Amino acid sequence: MHKLSHPKIQLGHWPTPLEPMLRINAMHKGPELWVKRDDCSGLAFGGNKTRKLEYLLADAQLGGATTLLTAGGLQSNHARQTAAAAARVGLGCELFLEDVEGVSEPDYNHSGNALLNQLLGARVHRLTAGQDLNAVMALRAQTLRASGQEPYIVPVGGSNAIGAMGYVNCGLELAQQIQVQGFSFDAIVLATGSAGTQAGLLAGLALAGQDIPVLGVTVSRSSGEQCQKVLALVHEVQALLQQPKLHEDHVICFDQYYGLAYGDPTPPMIEAVRLAASLEGLFLDPVYSGKAFAGLLDLVRHGYFDISERILFLHTGGAPALFAYSDCLSEH
Ligand SMILES: *Cc1c(COP(=O)(O)O)cnc(C)c1O
Repeated sequence: MHKLSHPKIQLGHWPTPLEPMLRINAMHKGPELWVKRDDCSGLAFGGNKTRKLEYLLADAQLGGATTLLTAGGLQSNHARQTAAAAARVGLGCELFLEDVEGVSEPDYNHSGNALLNQLLGARVHRLTAGQDLNAVMALRAQTLRASGQEPYIVPVGGSNAIGAMGYVNCGLELAQQIQVQGFSFDAIVLATGSAGTQAGLLAGLALAGQDIPVLGVTVSRSSGEQCQKVLALVHEVQALLQQPKLHEDHVICFDQYYGLAYGDPTPPMIEAVRLAASLEGLFLDPVYSGKAFAGLLDLVRHGYFDISERILFLHTGGAPALFAYSDCLSEH
């Protein structure tokens, strides 16, 4: 079994469990749906950013960082987990969070991840929609450096080759679980945004010699754009690992499930969130995993998979954002 030699620190609880979706499976004739619980990663309500941050924080600490800077939307799960990781290892944390156009609900602004960021002690800079997050962050890093601090910029979503190493590791972890349980999966379905999860997992499965298709459900981009983003990152990761380049045919994305825009609460997302909660006791989120699961259900209903297949849903977390979307999720 491969073991990655890149430096990492421990932030999460591994391996995350694999579970069958028993009651959802009882409702249809197949395929059999399973879930890998990366929502239970163990850090501050969990999620997929924990794996990436284990590598990014090791890199930050090697460089003598004193403060982490990162950016995202106001309800970014990545920002919340970065703030938690910083708290855990005793680094400062500044978050550059962008208002999402047209959302003024009090819960969106103050509950969910926005509330958690405060409790975690992060300093939040709120930017208006359309401001250049990276430019503002770079400027702040300069100021911090001038005052004797050592800032470390965590890329949006933790998705550079170092962060994606967390999902290479997840690919190896999954290969091990498959070996132990004695059966495999015919496809993996996940939400894809900043691309590190899909890219890392593809590279990790290739490294482990597991040829399982990884289907990404996009949350804001066309499948063409997203596939390019994923493929570029896979190749960067594979260069770091000194592994042969994956062929582009292995990168598959679906873009018909995110609605009008990032964070748009679509009816199929709401249905998927309700279904997973009421039949499996599983909390998906409105922006990523809810849409990815809605996509998976739609693909199942349209016969995309053979009914004899076994499909793994990677639950990437995000449930704290449910509280930010209470107005569209609750029945009033
Ligand atoms: C960030 C995030 C994703 C997307 O992962 P990427 O690596 O950015 O593609 C999926 N689900 C949740 C809950 C997230 O917070």
